Amino acid sequence: MSALVLVLNAGSSSLKYQLLDADSGTVSASGVVERIGEPDAKAVARHTVSGEATTRDVDAPDHHAAMRVVLDAFATDGPPLRPQDLYAVGHRVVHGGDLFRSPAVVDDAVIDAIQDLVPLAPLHNPGNLAGIRAARAAFPTTPQVAVFDTAFHQTLPPHAFTYAVPREWRERHRVRRYGFHGTSHAFVSRRLATLLGRDVSETNVVVLHLGNGASAAAVAGGACIDTSMGLSPLEGLVMGTRPGDLDPALPSHLAREGVPIEDYDRALNAGSGLRGLTGTNDFREVERLIEAGDPDAALALDIVTYRIAKYVGSYAVALGRLDGIAFTAGIGEHSPRLRAEVLARLGMLGIRVDPDRNSGGPAERVVTSDDSAVPAWVVPTNEELEIARQTLAVLR
Ligand code: ADP
Repeated sequence: MSALVLVLNAGSSSLKYQLLDADSGTVSASGVVERIGEPDAKAVARHTVSGEATTRDVDAPDHHAAMRVVLDAFATDGPPLRPQDLYAVGHRVVHGGDLFRSPAVVDDAVIDAIQDLVPLAPLHNPGNLAGIRAARAAFPTTPQVAVFDTAFHQTLPPHAFTYAVPREWRERHRVRRYGFHGTSHAFVSRRLATLLGRDVSETNVVVLHLGNGASAAAVAGGACIDTSMGLSPLEGLVMGTRPGDLDPALPSHLAREGVPIEDYDRALNAGSGLRGLTGTNDFREVERLIEAGDPDAALALDIVTYRIAKYVGSYAVALGRLDGIAFTAGIGEHSPRLRAEVLARLGMLGIRVDPDRNSGGPAERVVTSDDSAVPAWVVPTNEELEIARQTLAVLR
């Protein structure tokens, strides 16, 4: 039986997809439809088969139309996507609250539960749901599975997920830490244990997922025990456009200063982090600015790497023993400078970077010296493969 899975990642205005074999990891096609439902612009579809990308302007007023665009792309450019060849559709869903500890086969009750969690993820769950509805309509007899970004963090103990706030907020408004990027942390932590030649159940690692969004996770014996994102993906590390940890007094201070709540939300989601510090959220551009002697960019790198190192230090304490560190996602995989600065700040843990091993592109490798007390690795993440594997596992 084939293990062909169509992985869908539906955002509010985009639909990304990948068709892959969940057993071998072989990708037969991938693509994205962007600008779905935007009144002033045509949607754009890009479909890639064997490295060849085809880009088209398309009409996609909603996710159902975008799904038809995807099916058309398969029909026109291949490979053939026949429902009978497809084992399942796997959906990335951002927020599963405390309802989902593992992937769920989609039925009406699961859809209602994801809907019920919209107040906790207003920017993400509605788009995810639109993708699920469109895929159910397109593949009515194919099993659909929801894989949640939060699920891997449901093993956090209460002392790590509970905020010290009034009971009413915690109970009525579901205020607690949930964590995100769970599929990436699951994939990379398992892979790192393999690379270290150890059994997952006996391995304690810290995973640093450093992309446009960024989070750290402390994983003990395969179970996540702490992570840096919280109620929302704003908490924790400094990111491309989000600030990470802040003083909780900030909203009321700014409200008294006359800043409207919408401006506040927008600034913290889209105008903070690297962009707030340097004017750009593109880390490559930040590195160019540093080379050009820009003091704001140099300070931004210090702030970012200091915050990451503080988290690694606190997670080493939480884990009790640290067997390895993984750098992953766009910045973690591609930036030797960032890794070197983070590792230099971890000298008191006996960690020593090896400049030769650390230089160069995103290949999977160790970047610390042989005498480093803890090895650090580059471990490229693969969220689509993890979603496909989890989809398959829950159905088999
Ligand atoms: P997302 O969270 O959007 O999936 P990615 O994991 O793709 O983000 O990471 C995007 C970030 O990675 C951007 O800040 C980008 O500048 C950075 N990045 C990509 N390639 C490089 C590179 N070669 N050197 C440094 N940073 C890079």
